[in-house]
Amino acid sequence: MIRPEMAHHYKGKWKQISKWLIARVGHCVNCGKTPGRGVVLTVHHIDFNPTNNDSSNLVVLCARCHLKKHATIQKYGRDTEAQLALFDAVEGGR
Ligand SMILES: [Zn+2]
Ligand SMILES: [Zn+2]
Repeated sequence: MIRPEMAHHYKGKWKQISKWLIARVGHCVNCGKTPGRGVVLTVHHIDFNPTNNDSSNLVVLCARCHLKKHATIQKYGRDTEAQLALFDAVEGGR
């Protein structure tokens, strides 16, 4: 679930960071796809900590690879980061 206070945290600075990184990297580091038809790039937190926005903790993944990355940990209830990243990508993309 996306808690309101978390969604609020994600607005502003995170949006700028993720947009900047996606523009800079320009492709999914996992499958190499670039944004276009059916491909949306998102930013993944390597340590799954959405508050750690250090550049060493961030990696660009397409939505598909991002969800795959999180599929293995969803059972632990730590899927919030992926959901919010996708939410941002859909809302702010294009
Ligand atoms: Zn990918
Ligand atoms: Zn992620």
